Amino acid sequence: MAKEIRQIAIYGKGGIGKSTTTQNLTAGLAESGKKIMVVGCDPKADSTRLLLGTLAQRTVLDTLRTVGDELELSNIMRTGYGDIKCVESGGPEPGVGCAGRGIITSIGLLERLGAYTDELDYVFYDVLGDVVCGGFAMPIREGKAKEIYIVASGEMMALYAANNIAKGIAKYAQKGGVRLGGIICNSRNVDRERELLEAFAKELGTRLIYFVPRNNVVQRAEINRKTVIEYAPEDKQANEYRSLAAAIDGNTNFTVPKPMKQERLEEILLEFGLLDSIEDDYRI
Ligand code: ADP
Ligand code: MG
Repeated sequence: MAKEIRQIAIYGKGGIGKSTTTQNLTAGLAESGKKIMVVGCDPKADSTRLLLGTLAQRTVLDTLRTVGDELELSNIMRTGYGDIKCVESGGPEPGVGCAGRGIITSIGLLERLGAYTDELDYVFYDVLGDVVCGGFAMPIREGKAKEIYIVASGEMMALYAANNIAKGIAKYAQKGGVRLGGIICNSRNVDRERELLEAFAKELGTRLIYFVPRNNVVQRAEINRKTVIEYAPEDKQANEYRSLAAAIDGNTNFTVPKPMKQERLEEILLEFGLLDSIEDDYRI
């Protein structure tokens, strides 16, 4: 019987570090011999440039426009670091049409062109997730990606977004087999951040699967268009990403998230000093 490919979607607020984290952790998995495809599902189309060492890859939507329906897999898929297969869905101009259309088109094309080969161990979808609506839910609709991780930090907006994403996942989990594998904290050096993320994850019915420290070597690697794994393999940050990769590879903890009511989320934020009390807000 054909081996099951682990298909994983990484969600999180814009700018939280999804693309950086995804590329570094897949580089770590590739180092340990795993075969991987990364599908960028953010209209920004910068999900694979550290793996490819380029500025930006031409997107599936752009390629369709120029090459037309005759296109082949090699027109939309490039091979990067550690033999990782890289695809960028792309999206329409901001404000024009459905921003998720690139994802729908890309997944359909990848299927039709035979990109999901038995040789693959993992497919990662790097998805913008301020809202899990329409096209952005595509990788998890119908259970294409059955496993989700949410990247968050101890900042209020990141946690609001993570809770909203959990709402979207819960909706699709009822119909299909979609499960939350955990929260990845990409640290912003907020006070008591690990504790806050642990409490937040627990409340959602999941766990903090890994705490990635903030480190400037990430930016230095990025300027050189590389992951930390490639740019500074001996650096302790490279080991953090290897450990994150191992935590995901060995994960057996999959749950249907229990999103919080706004009031409960705000209680937790208050407890950790991220919100002033209502009384303070009204004090003159
Ligand atoms: P997203 O894909 O969620 O929009 P990115 O992965 O593009 O976010 O990350 C945004 C910025 O944050 C990048 O410029 C990246 O260099 C930086 N960054 C991400 N993770 C870290 C980290 N652990 N330490 C330092 N900088 C980071
Ligand atoms: Mg990104």
